[in-house]
Amino acid sequence: MPTCPRCNQPVDPQAIACPFCRTTLKAHGHPGITLHQAIGSEYLCDSCTYHADDTCNYPQRPYARECTLYHDDRQPFQPVRSARPASFSLWFQRYLPQIMILGLLGVSFLIVLYQQQQR
Ligand code: SF4
Ligand SMILES: [Zn+2]
Repeated sequence: MPTCPRCNQPVDPQAIACPFCRTTLKAHGHPGITLHQAIGSEYLCDSCTYHADDTCNYPQRPYARECTLYHDDRQPFQPVRSARPASFSLWFQRYLPQIMILGLLGVSFLIVLYQQQQR
């Protein structure tokens, strides 16, 4: 069972927040999106694979204290069962804010369209 990075108590892998210290463990309230957090004074990027190989283009790099894409460069990559779900998951995590904005614009457009049809 994983442990909370702040208080080291065992926590459910699906937990959105630590039940002991209330530290947020998942991003956007989604149990599938782990929110990695820096402990102490080090930045996450200092030990991140994507900073080491210079493939990260997140604006918070190199001073990220929270990140959903962080990968510890001392840990091996987990074997990927299928390339498609992994790449979609990474794509979804990376573009989630843009997807949410597009969704809001779409709903706004439909509301305006509906109101014009009512006149
Ligand atoms: S993925 Fe996150 S932790 Fe890694 S370099 Fe980019 S911003 Fe830093
Ligand atoms: Zn905790």
